[in-house]
Order: sequence, then C-alpha cells, then structure tokens
Amino acid sequence: MSRSQVTNYLRPSTPEEALSLLRDGGKSARYVGGGADVARTLSSDVTTLIDLCSLNLSSIEERPDGTVIGATATLNDVLENKSVAKVCGGVIVEMMRKVGSPLLRNIATIGGTLASAHSWSDVIPLFLVLDARVSLYDGEYQTLALADLYRSREEFTDQILTAVTIPVTVPGDYAAFQKFSRTAYDIALLNCACYLHVDGGRCSEGRIAAGGTPHLGVRLPEVEAALRGETLSEASIENAAHVARDTTQTADDRRASGGYRKDLVYAGVKHCLHEIAGKVKA
Ligand SMILES: Cc1cc2nc3c(=O)[nH]c(=O)nc-3n(C[C@H](O)[C@H](O)[C@H](O)COP(=O)(O)OP(=O)(O)OC[C@H]3O[C@@H](n4cnc5c(N)ncnc54)[C@H](O)[C@@H]3O)c2cc1C
Repeated sequence: MSRSQVTNYLRPSTPEEALSLLRDGGKSARYVGGGADVARTLSSDVTTLIDLCSLNLSSIEERPDGTVIGATATLNDVLENKSVAKVCGGVIVEMMRKVGSPLLRNIATIGGTLASAHSWSDVIPLFLVLDARVSLYDGEYQTLALADLYRSREEFTDQILTAVTIPVTVPGDYAAFQKFSRTAYDIALLNCACYLHVDGGRCSEGRIAAGGTPHLGVRLPEVEAALRGETLSEASIENAAHVARDTTQTADDRRASGGYRKDLVYAGVKHCLHEIAGKVKA
C-alpha cells in the first residue's frame, strides 16, 4: 500500500454509519480492523478506509449462551481474557499463543481474522470445532454458524462482523489444537483442531477440522463419523488418524506438498486425540 493513496480515514460510531460509508465509497472504500492485512494488501483503487475499531465492539463478555467476543477485540485481548480461558480447558488461549507474534496479536482483531478468511488461519479450524456463531450486520443484524458463513462465501463484501460467540463448555467437553509450521512465528503448513464430548467414556459428539491443507479450514466429517460412539483407545485414535490422512483433500503449494500435508493431518489428528485422551483420564 502506498500511504499517500488513502485520502479519507473515517471513524464511524455505529455499524449503520460504517455500512453506509462503505456503500457510498463503493470500490474505493474498505473496512479496516487492526490493519495487519489491509496495510499489506490494499489495492491501488482504495482511497477510503473505514475504521471499525471506532464502533465500540471490543468487549468480551461471558453470557448464559457463551463467551461473546466483540469484533474489534485484539487477538491478545482474547488470549488474556478469563472467560475465554475457561472454554474447553483453555484451548483458545493455547491456539492464540501460536498465532503470529505478540506484536501481530496486539494489532490484529478477531473480526479481521475471521473476515479475511485465510486458508492457513489457526483461528478458523478451532472456532469451527467449537461451533462458533458469528453476528453480522449488512443492513440487518443476523447470527449464523461460522461454518455457514464460509459455506456461502469466503470473503466479505459489505457485511460487518460485529461479534463471535463461543458456546458454553459443559462437563465432558474436550478440545485440542495442533499447528505445524517451519518456525514459531510462521503461518501453518497445516493445522488441525478436535472437539469431543465424552459421555460414559465414549465420544457422543465430535467435530474435527483441518486448515492450511492448503484450502480454508473445514470440518472432516469422515473422521467425526469414525469417532462417534468410540472410546478413545490406541486403536480408535489410530483409525481416526488414518481416516484423516485418507479423506482430507490436500494439495501442493510453495510451502509443502499435498503428500506431506497428508502426513501432517494424520499426525495432527493423532496428537490432538491423544491429548484429549490424556485429559479424559486425568
Ligand atoms: C506477519 C503476520 C503473521 C501472521 N501470522 C498468523 C498466524 O500465525 N496464524 C494466523 O491464524 N494468522 C496469522 N496472520 C493473519 C492475521 O491473523 C490476520 O492477517 C489478521 O488477523 C487480520 O486482522 P486485522 O484486524 O488486522 O484485519 P484487517 O487487516 O484490518 O482486515 C482484514 C480484512 O478483513 C476486513 N475486516 C476487518 N474487520 C472486519 C469486520 N469486523 N467485519 C468485516 N470485515 C472486516 C477488512 O476490510 C479486510 O478485508 C498473520 C498476519 C501477519 C501480517
């Protein structure tokens, strides 16, 4: 981005005002959250930035239906929040520590992270398995499952993501996250997240997802089916990891081959399930 190309930097105070400014600006206007992506990827026709951080949407609240994270909360706000730390034994905190560097997490917002929908996002696979719901404004307020948002579109146009809600953790809920990258601050070669509800020693519900395959993070229904009703034994974990390797769609890119990614998804699912098995026994 050439800084001189941006001639208007606007700070609306409501989502209604922000949407109207974006619609007025057309292709020359763009929302900005923390700006980590916008600063690197702004196309030359954008002359107006609409700062969503002025919308007063940065609170994180524990409500009866879950933890509601405002869109402009930074990734470090999320990492340091006590309600977030209670979700599935602290799995969100564990994952956030692996997102970029502390400097990046100080500026990147949760809204910008979900809206930018990077295929290698560490947040998306974990939020998919935690059954996160997103609140949006596009002239009307609506809430939908994060998975549905990405099913219909991979990028936002004029919708404003206002919050994301992570459902309450109940006894028997367990989750784990695994990221493979070349260095601690690098983006993922592949990542995976597992959530299981264990009842009477058996998995009564499971959601498993992988990202950076190198496609956008998605659930792995065949692996979920392989775990349904199973106890977490060496055999069932090995079987689920094999199913992940056999059924996950991977491809080559400049970071890794599709074949290597198959090995990573096998190792990632196995690691996550072992971690959960350890927590169930504890
Ligand atoms: C050096 C570096 C390292 C990184 N490492 C990792 C990593 O290890 N793991 C990982 O998962 N990610 C990583 N990222 C990605 C990073 O998390 C995202 O780029 C960042 O979260 C974007 O958030 P932001 O608030 O800065 O978004 P912005 O740059 O402000 O916006 C990104 C996009 O989303 C739109 N937008 C922003 N907020 C909203 C909203 N509330 N509603 C609708 N649209 C909105 C903007 O218009 C823009 O199109 C890295 C990024 C960088 C630059």
